[in-house]
Amino acid sequence: MNIYLLFLTLIFSSCLDEDNSLEEIKRQIKINDTQKIITILSSDSLKGRDNKNMGYFKAADYVIKYFKKNNINPLYKDFKDIFYSESIKSYNIVGTVGEFINERKTILIGAHLDHIGINGISADSIYNGANDNASGCVSVLQIGSFLSQFKWDYNIVLALFAEEEKGLRGSYNLAQRMKKENIDLKYVINFEMIGKEMKIGENKVYLTGYEMSNLALEINSIVPGFVNFFTKSKEFNLFKRSDNYPFYKKFGIPSQTLSSYDFENYKYYHHFDDEVNNLNIVNLNKIIVSSAFFISTFLNEKTEIYLNNH
Ligand SMILES: [Zn+2]
Repeated sequence: MNIYLLFLTLIFSSCLDEDNSLEEIKRQIKINDTQKIITILSSDSLKGRDNKNMGYFKAADYVIKYFKKNNINPLYKDFKDIFYSESIKSYNIVGTVGEFINERKTILIGAHLDHIGINGISADSIYNGANDNASGCVSVLQIGSFLSQFKWDYNIVLALFAEEEKGLRGSYNLAQRMKKENIDLKYVINFEMIGKEMKIGENKVYLTGYEMSNLALEINSIVPGFVNFFTKSKEFNLFKRSDNYPFYKKFGIPSQTLSSYDFENYKYYHHFDDEVNNLNIVNLNKIIVSSAFFISTFLNEKTEIYLNNH
């Protein structure tokens, strides 16, 4: 091999190296894509992503198409974890990064895809749910497609839940199923309403169940100041009010939610004006980048997340 060829080979092989640096993640997770995905997921044609008017299933089709395009594999047939809710067939969308190997440790990254549909007779009666929770969904999709380029020592499950708004029904179903299947689930990161910057500043979230595990500490050692304690989260017991909770209950593992909704930064909670134009997409993209960075660092460094007092 001549020296020139050797040089080329070296350059080429270094390009193939895994690069999960913050700079690389910033380069890859593009604000335009975040904007595009969240706009589709909260468009009027999805009718507020409710299963009763079929809007939810349209949103689900989009997610399935996105997974296929980004080399994310189905965990269950056609990506669907099917269950019945008030006798209507519904399903979570569940994908996996790379191959799913039973004996391997598993982590889950999730967000609920459903919202509350159409209500009332005013000119705009569609509850688009851009913040609640298209913002969380775009995070799972963007992080998933970033992670899907590399090989990992863990199973990485991506879950978009149905029927959160009707009482965490989708996540209860999936938690129970994964428990029955003896999946070695280690921790769950759930995203809920991260479309607005917190009053305390940019690129910041709070963690529900903050003091229950070493999760906040470990995240902040990678992205300083990213995760915060939020008094109202504890006061209103938000830990039990999103899709993280069923996994904590069934598995007894750290399963927590990241959110930036601080009750004062957004007046359109469960309101027909919960639309993309009222969100801060620059900040949302920063939160997604920070999250992709801490998750890939956890996976690379085999960080153990555990409940305190265990
Ligand atoms: Zn929500």
